[in-house]
Amino acid sequence: MLTIALSKGRILEQTLPLLEKSGLTIAKEELNSRKLILDTNLADVQVIIIRATDVPVFVQHGAADMGIAGKDILLEHGANNLFEVLDLGIAKCKLMVAAESKDKLKQNTLKVATKYVNSAKLYFQNKGQSCEIIKLFGAMELAPKVGLAHCIVDLVDTGNTLKANGLIALECIEQISSRLVVNAASFKTKNTQIKPWVQNIERIL
Ligand code: AMP
Repeated sequence: MLTIALSKGRILEQTLPLLEKSGLTIAKEELNSRKLILDTNLADVQVIIIRATDVPVFVQHGAADMGIAGKDILLEHGANNLFEVLDLGIAKCKLMVAAESKDKLKQNTLKVATKYVNSAKLYFQNKGQSCEIIKLFGAMELAPKVGLAHCIVDLVDTGNTLKANGLIALECIEQISSRLVVNAASFKTKNTQIKPWVQNIERIL
């Protein structure tokens, strides 16, 4: 059995059509059910739909052979023990530094609100900018408004969320898209099953 871990939400919406084109379909009843492990049209492939941040964890530990996750999540997680085999080019956005104005970034110790703690720390460290990271799980845009942070690090797509909250995207940390990742051991032991599947998706892309 081949187990594929998919990220819930925005990425899933764009992943399902791609999987369908590659010959893997999940029935609507399965998707709408409360089941955590979903059957597919292929007897030897099952799908688990989990939080985006959990996808590299499942794949790293071999609980899933393959997974689809955003590059933002993979960078933040560190992504050990798994191979990033394909850039799927979906769910594209940018990981950016945003603030009310450019001047707000001029601080001896910059206070940064983000859920991307590791990526933000590394970025400012490489710039030689001292920073204090404030971990938030959502509504990052609020932090500069209420004086919790000088800036935020978050994903930006259209820029509408920033605009609605009086923030400007100032620096791009990373271009983000969804990646197909494979567990390192599965890549060897299930190669005959995984390789054609990866090649098939590559051809579609
Ligand atoms: P936007 O207003 O279009 O710039 O979208 C920004 C909001 O959507 C932020 O809250 C982001 O965290 C989220 N977002 C944008 N693109 C993605 C993506 N590819 N994957 C996950 N979240 C995203």
